[in-house]
Amino acid sequence: MSQSEKTERTCVEPGVLYLVSTPIGNLEDITFRALKVLKEVDLVASEDTRHTGVLLKHYDLSKRLISYHDFNKKKKAPLIIKDLKEGKSVAVVSDAGTPGISDPGYYLVQLAIGEGIKVIPVPGASAFLSALVVSGLPTDRFAFEGFLPAKLGKRRKRLKELLEEERTLIFYESPHRFAKTLDDISEILGQRRMVVARELTKKFEEILRGTAEEIKGSLGERKLKGELVILIEGKSA
Ligand code: SAM
Repeated sequence: MSQSEKTERTCVEPGVLYLVSTPIGNLEDITFRALKVLKEVDLVASEDTRHTGVLLKHYDLSKRLISYHDFNKKKKAPLIIKDLKEGKSVAVVSDAGTPGISDPGYYLVQLAIGEGIKVIPVPGASAFLSALVVSGLPTDRFAFEGFLPAKLGKRRKRLKELLEEERTLIFYESPHRFAKTLDDISEILGQRRMVVARELTKKFEEILRGTAEEIKGSLGERKLKGELVILIEGKSA
């Protein structure tokens, strides 16, 4: 047996749920293993079937796709579990990045573990990790906070709760809320260094650095579009 045969999982197992990471923009950011698993599984549960369809077509894969997203997860997850229990192999993919990070993958994983189903990760891209390493902010300790609450009062409360946090803070944010969030950060967290990583791995990739106020000033009237990650330095000791 060769070294690689001893250390690598080579084929898909029946009755297993695979968490397959997909690109966050650039279609080439996918692993050989992810493509192999997507090719071999019985079905792919996808957060956005149109998006996943583009990826599969790019790699000349044709596969049974079922939709599994935040609004149908409670109805669809038990059906996926049933398929798994019948011995089918299932890959779950999110809209982009690693399923389970701020998306409905988490719900399915919980259910699968509760039912004694084996779950295997197939690692790859995740927006927060790419944003962190490119930010220039400390990477040794960080706190991933996912999305801030959409409602103003709750969002501000969450930011206040994080005032004493010394680790680098990482948030996902929608471009529609970005301007308001920037104001809240400026008011509550003050002059800390922050970074906005926008459209990572895509044509209009952009990294903005400065305090919230400086970033606001540099943007002027310009509204940020696309997908973005906000990072803020932790409270200095
Ligand atoms: N599971 C995904 C992951 O592993 O990164 C995240 C899913 S979450 C629903 C989507 C959020 O990820 C977006 O609102 C944005 O904050 C961030 N995101 C996804 N792709 C991105 C990109 N190319 N550049 C910057 N942020 C991105």
